[in-house]
Amino acid sequence: MAAVCVFCASSTSIDSSYVELATRVGLELARRGHSLVSGGGALSCMGAVAEAARAGGAYTLGVIPAALLELEVGDRAADELLIVDDMRIRKGLMDARSDAFLGLPGGLGTLEELTEVWTSRFLGMHSKPVVALDHDGLYAPLRAQVELMVDRGFVRPEAAAALQWASTVEEAFDLLEAGLADPVAITPTVAEALEGDPSSL
Ligand code: AMP
Repeated sequence: MAAVCVFCASSTSIDSSYVELATRVGLELARRGHSLVSGGGALSCMGAVAEAARAGGAYTLGVIPAALLELEVGDRAADELLIVDDMRIRKGLMDARSDAFLGLPGGLGTLEELTEVWTSRFLGMHSKPVVALDHDGLYAPLRAQVELMVDRGFVRPEAAAALQWASTVEEAFDLLEAGLADPVAITPTVAEALEGDPSSL
C-alpha cells in the first residue's frame, strides 16, 4: 500500500470526461489498496478523485492553503484536511506525505506541481515514481516540447524519462507500482546519468 499523490484540475470549465477519468483514478487507487494525497479541493477533478477514493474505501489526505479554502472549496470530507499558510508549505507537505506522484489532465497548477516532482526526481532529490496519465493527447504538445529540448541538448534523455507516460488508468497504476517496487530500475540516478559529464545536467 502506498500514499499516491494525485495532481489534477481544479477548473470547473472542463469537459466532464476529465472528471470521469479522475473518478476512475480514485476508484482504482482504492481498489489497489492505496491512500490518496491531494491538494484538498472539492471541485472538478480534485474533488472527484477524492470522493471516488473514499467511496472505494481509501484514506484521503488533503493539503490546502487557507487562502484557497473558499475558491477551491476545501474537501471537508477528507479523512485529514491540513489547512496551511501558503503554496510552498502545501507542496512540501504533499511531497513529504506521498510515496508516488500521478499527474492527470490539468491546468497550470497541475503542470507546475508535476514538473517540480519530475525535475527533482531526476536530480536525485527523491526516488518516488512520477507518472502522468494522458488518455486523450492533452499533453501531446508538452511531450513534443520536451522531445525538442532533448534534441537540442537542453534536456537529457534520462531527465525526460524520469516522468513516465501512461494512456490508461490501469497502465498508470502499473507504472507507479513498478516504480515503488524498484525505483532505480525505472530511471537512472542522477549520478549515472551524469557519469563522465558532471558539469551539465
Ligand atoms: P490547475 O491545474 O491550475 O487547475 O490547479 C490544480 C491545483 O494546483 C489547484 O489546487 C491549484 O491551487 C494548485 N496550484 C496552482 N499553482 C500552484 C503552485 N504554484 N504550487 C502548488 N499548487 C498549485
